[in-house]
Order: sequence, then C-alpha cells, then structure tokens
Amino acid sequence: MDHVFSIDVEDWYQGIEIPMDQWGEFERRVEASMGRLLDLMARYDVRATCFVLGKVAEEHPDLVRRIHDAGHEVATHGYSHEKIYNLSPDRFREELRRSIELVQDLTGEPVLGHRAPYFTITEDSLWALDILRDEGILYDSSIHPVFNYRYGIPNADRQPSVIESEEGEQMLEVPVATYPLSSPLPDANVPCGGGAYLRIYPYWLQRWCLQKIEERGEHISVYVHPWEVDPEHPKIDLPFRVSATHYWNLDSTLPKLERLFQDFTFRSYRDVFASELEALST
Ligand SMILES: [Zn+2]
Repeated sequence: MDHVFSIDVEDWYQGIEIPMDQWGEFERRVEASMGRLLDLMARYDVRATCFVLGKVAEEHPDLVRRIHDAGHEVATHGYSHEKIYNLSPDRFREELRRSIELVQDLTGEPVLGHRAPYFTITEDSLWALDILRDEGILYDSSIHPVFNYRYGIPNADRQPSVIESEEGEQMLEVPVATYPLSSPLPDANVPCGGGAYLRIYPYWLQRWCLQKIEERGEHISVYVHPWEVDPEHPKIDLPFRVSATHYWNLDSTLPKLERLFQDFTFRSYRDVFASELEALST
C-alpha cells in the first residue's frame, strides 16, 4: 500500500511561537536542512508533498524551485505560521492568497493542498475550511483527531474524508496518522504520524503503530520538519512546553526516517489521492 509523506517546510525559529517580526535576527538554516531531506528522499525514490511556508518561499525562491524540480508536490503551509484560531477570517484569507501566489509563481503549477501551522484547524477555526475551498484548495491536512494543548478535534475522522460546506462545495480532509485505542484501554487516538512523535517513540513502536494501521487496510500519512534533521540548530530559551518537544531527540530523526523509507512506500498527496482530487476539481 502506498502512503503519504509530507514536509512542513519552515525554518527552526518559525515553528516555536516566535512572532514573525522577530525572525530577522535568526540564522537561516532551512536550505541546508531541507537539502538533507531532499537527498534522503532521492536515495529512496520518495516523491513527497512539501507544505511550504509563504515566508520561506519569499526568502528562498531557489529552494522552492529545487523542491519542485526534484518532482515533489509543492503545497502551502500558510504565510506567517500564526495559529489559525488567532487570525481573523479576513487575515487568514489574505495570508493564504499571498502564500499560494508565492508558490504558484515559482512552480507554475496550481497549489492543491494546505496544512495549517500547528494543525490549528480546530472546533474554533472550522470557518477556515470554507475559505480554503473558496481559494481553490482541494485537500487539507490540518485536522488532527487527538488531544493536544494547542490543536486537535479528538473525535474527528481518522481517515480521509470528503467534507462539504453549507453551499455543497467539497474538499478532501486527510489527517496525519493516528492509531485508535479501544477497550479495555480508554478510547483515544494515539498520534503516530511523525513530527515530535517520530523523535519521542523508539523506532520499533513507530513501525508497530503504522503496521497495525496498515493491517486495518487504512491510509497512513507521516510528516516531518526540516529543522528536525538539523540537531545543530541554535538552542534558545523557550517556554518549557515548547522547548521540551522542539529539541527532543533531534539526532534520531534522520536514521528513523531512513528506516521508515525502507519499511514503507511513500508518495505525495497529489499522487495517492489523484482520483479523488480529479473528481473534486470537475
Ligand atoms: Zn509548521
């Protein structure tokens, strides 16, 4: 079974809740760290989806071209990396348009997909889905069916589903992977779709979760960030809740990814869901 691999393309200081107006002072490392991921994917012939932050596309246009030229799908991760429930609908639309234009101008292809910063499409920001559809987005991967302090809709669908607006417009929602616990354990979905969890779990546990999902005949979506394969990036003072996961076990990401690529087959959202996206676009 082919699964989806994706990368949220942002620099190390962009995913730790530092406002955009303070980003100027930090060392740029995204081209080097993304280069490591591109090299690894080339070795295993993985064509992924790269959700590029608009600010990254603006500062590093050559990186976006390099991703595109290597055969990966380029989608959007918004512009400023602000949590969606902290934005007004108008501001969200404005940032989304800007991020889509930046990427489309560089790749010459339409942007089909979106992932929210910190998976922040929650019960408080479901309005964002209508705006995404309105702006031409065909699939979204932002609703995480788990409990987490800053994101999650715990009872949302774990598997890809078509969601429909009141006007009848449809879009595909594809959550990253979770494993459903059930009785005698409490009913809850265990996150196992990458990011910090890939670094926290020993590899055997990560693989076990994904194999169990595969045995259920279900779809798997796994993601990482470029800074997770850059253990040397600067250590700065952050609130404990942020630093505890951000800097945890960064050395382990690249070797674990390599094993994942040996044990599972990954492609982009655009490829794995080609027929669903075709149906939605007509
Ligand atoms: Zn992000």
